[in-house]
Amino acid sequence: MELLAKLQQQLHALEDRQLIRKRRTVESPCGPRVTVDGRELLAFCSNDYLGLANHDAIRHALQEGAALYGAGSGASHLISGHGRAHAQLEGRLTQFVAAHLEAPRAISFSTGYMANLAVITGLTAGDREAEIFSEELNHASLIDGARLARVKTHVYPHADLAALETLLQASSAATRVVVTDSVFSMDGNLAPLPALLALCEQYGAWLVVDDAHGFGTLGERGHGALEHFDLRSPYLVYMGTLGKAAGVAGAFVAAHETVIDTLIQKARPYIFTTAAPPAMAHALLASLDLIEGAEGARRRAHLQALVAQLDDGLRLARWRRLPSKTAIQPILIGDNGDTMRAGAALYEQGLWVGAIRPPTVAPGTARLRVTLSAGHDRADVAQLITALNALERT
Ligand SMILES: *Cc1c(COP(=O)(O)O)cnc(C)c1O
Repeated sequence: MELLAKLQQQLHALEDRQLIRKRRTVESPCGPRVTVDGRELLAFCSNDYLGLANHDAIRHALQEGAALYGAGSGASHLISGHGRAHAQLEGRLTQFVAAHLEAPRAISFSTGYMANLAVITGLTAGDREAEIFSEELNHASLIDGARLARVKTHVYPHADLAALETLLQASSAATRVVVTDSVFSMDGNLAPLPALLALCEQYGAWLVVDDAHGFGTLGERGHGALEHFDLRSPYLVYMGTLGKAAGVAGAFVAAHETVIDTLIQKARPYIFTTAAPPAMAHALLASLDLIEGAEGARRRAHLQALVAQLDDGLRLARWRRLPSKTAIQPILIGDNGDTMRAGAALYEQGLWVGAIRPPTVAPGTARLRVTLSAGHDRADVAQLITALNALERT
C-alpha cells in the first residue's frame, strides 16, 4: 500500500539521522530506582523533582479518592464532570499563587499541554488582531497553542528583552500576549521574569508564565517562579503543572478571575474534554500540603544540595555544561550519534539519563539531560559524577 510505504520511508529517514525514538517500559513506580526489563536502574531522567510520585501520603490519598469518587469523572467540566475534589483543588491552588495576582482564581486541567492550548487560545479568542510574542525556547505546547490561536505570532530570541521590546513597540495590536517558560525545560535556566513583567506592564501586554518546572521547586514554600521572584501583577497569567514536582498529573491556570471566567466560556481545550478523575484531584490536595509544608522545604533544600554536589563534582573538558541552578542539568554534546552513544554507555552501567535530540532541541545541540530529584541521595549523585567524568574521557 502506497500510504504505508510513504510512512515507512519517513521512519527510515529518521533512523538514518539517528532520530528514531524508542520507549522503554518501566515495571516499577517512578522513583530514583526503576526496573526496566527486570533490571534495576538509577534514573536521572524523570521530572519528579521532589520525589513525590510514589510518596505514601499521596498514594493513600489517591486510594481514598477512588473510594470516595470512583474512577472516572464521566463528563467534561461544563456538563457533569466537575466534582467536589476539583473544586477543592482549585481553591487550594488559588491560595498557592494568590499573593502574586489580583482577584486571583485557578482552574484545573488534565494536562499542562491542554492548559497551554487553552490559555493562549482563550486570551486571544474573539480578537483576530491579537498578537503573540513567544520566547524562542518555549515548550512545544506553547508553540502549538499559538498555532491553534491563528493570530500573528512573533518569536523573540532567547532571553532577549531588547528584541522583545522592539517587537512590542512596533505592534499596534490591542491584545498582546507575551508567552514564556519560567524554567527552560531543556536548558534549566530561568527566564528574566521581573524584567519581562515590567516590559509587559509598560506595553499593556499579558505575561503568560509556564511554570511547569518551577511549581513545587522554586520559592520558599514551593509556590513557584512568582514566589521566587516576588512578582505581583494583574497582567500575570500563571500556568503550573501537577505531574512533575507535584508527582501526580494535571495542571492549572491561575489569573485574574475575569481571565478564568473567559477560559471557562471560551477555551475549547478546556470545554471539549473529559474532566480528570476526581481521585487525582483528591491526591493532589495531599501533594500540595506536602509541597507547602516542612517536608516540601526539606526536599527542596536537599535537591539544591544535590545540584551543588553535581556542580562541584563534574570535571568536563569537551562537553559543555549549561549554566543552570535548577534540577535540570544539561550536558551539551552536540552530535546526535555521540549523544546517543553516551546515553547508551551510561545505560550499560545502570544509569538512565535522557538523551535529547532535535527537534526537541536545536540541531547541533543534542545533549544529555540530567534531572535530579529530592528522591536521590548523595551516593546516587556521586555515582553519576564518576560515570560522567570517566565517560567524557573515552
Ligand atoms: C511538561 C511541560 C508541559 C506539559 O505539561 P504536561 O502536564 O506534561 O502535559 C508544558 N510546559 C512545559 C514547559 C513542560 O515542561
